[in-house]
Amino acid sequence: MSRNICLHWYPVAGARHAFPAELADTEHDEKVQAICDEVVSSTELHERSELAWITEPTCIRCWDQLFPDDPALAPAH
Ligand SMILES: [Zn+2]
Repeated sequence: MSRNICLHWYPVAGARHAFPAELADTEHDEKVQAICDEVVSSTELHERSELAWITEPTCIRCWDQLFPDDPALAPAH
């Protein structure tokens, strides 16, 4: 995967997942896919609170997609 794409992190489906920015900007109710292959409705991306962003864990599968060679930086499970 290219490391040059712009990603937005959203707390959906129980964890913060990374979505390509152009998908996150979708205005209509469409299925959008995180880089770990989790699929959610685009409306869910914008309905979550800042508290959810803080309290939900980072998706380890998204993290591994971005930093596969750097396990020391991985968040706690
Ligand atoms: Zn994910």
